[in-house]
Amino acid sequence: TESLLRVNGLKKYFPITGGVLNRKKGDVKAVDDVSFTVYKGETLGLVGESGCGKSTTGRVLLQLLQATEGEILFEDQDVTKLSSKELKQLRKEMQLVFQDPYASLNPRHTVEKILEEPLKVHGIKDKKERKQRVHDMLETVGLSSYHAKRYPHQFSGGQRQRIGIARALMTHPKLIIADEPVSALDVSIQAQVLNLLKDLQKDFHLTYLFIAHDLGVVRHISDRVGVMYLGRLVELTESETLYARPLHPYTQSLLASVPIPDPTYLSEEAEELTGEMPSPANPPSGCAFHTRCHACMDICKTERPVFREVEQGHYVACHLYNDQQALDEINS
Ligand code: SF4
Ligand code: MG
Repeated sequence: TESLLRVNGLKKYFPITGGVLNRKKGDVKAVDDVSFTVYKGETLGLVGESGCGKSTTGRVLLQLLQATEGEILFEDQDVTKLSSKELKQLRKEMQLVFQDPYASLNPRHTVEKILEEPLKVHGIKDKKERKQRVHDMLETVGLSSYHAKRYPHQFSGGQRQRIGIARALMTHPKLIIADEPVSALDVSIQAQVLNLLKDLQKDFHLTYLFIAHDLGVVRHISDRVGVMYLGRLVELTESETLYARPLHPYTQSLLASVPIPDPTYLSEEAEELTGEMPSPANPPSGCAFHTRCHACMDICKTERPVFREVEQGHYVACHLYNDQQALDEINS
């Protein structure tokens, strides 16, 4: 399969300043050396607790935030090196769907005006054509042209997210970065919006990077899932494998805290996640998860485990899998 997006060694650090002279004291390593590929037509889920760097990663990919270091290759073009003109073109092809559509929709604009805006920005001058495309898109996301003259506050949460999705699709993007698109919705509405996203993916040949804070939500929509902890990817593999046989102790803990009916994935030691998330401004040495890990060894406190492919398509950053023997035992 062909890749659409390749991320290599991505870092996003935010400086911490303070004191009387407001000097730089250090960095919050919000994204710390993250690498992954998104293939054309797939949904890659990106999961972790709040503060793990998943939203920051999404924003850096879209160049809403500048990367501190690393490569972001969208169709083999490094987006960190684009001119503002090239960036405008990129924005057409990569769009963001927000967690809170209400906050991202201008309350004083009608839906028609909101959806027309991206078309104007991208040079569609014919007003009639713009209106037609807006009305078509409303139908596509399960609303109707009858809604065009209404304002965002006149819609329910689920309908507003449909408008947010419609806006993202107006420019016919290739990649949608969806940042917790259903987290703010009632559970009964979540499934509807997830189904809509699935249908749109087929119809528009979309590729999704789907950001979420729990493994339950991304399970049915993701082809592969990556798990982040304190700015780092700790595990990434096919969904089926991740839910059936997670290797990283953090993934195991996350799964132990999600109510999934068939607990065959649980290794004997898998325990629900305990302890506080350490501050990203002062992450633990070695493996950043070592302060909460039930399998912590001496080496974990000093040496950062490398994120590597331990079996076909299955990437893990954990010292437990430094030798093949450990994996063979799990598979036997
Ligand atoms: Fe636990 Fe060590 Fe693996 Fe980190 S590297 S997850 S501390 S076993
Ligand atoms: Mg977030």
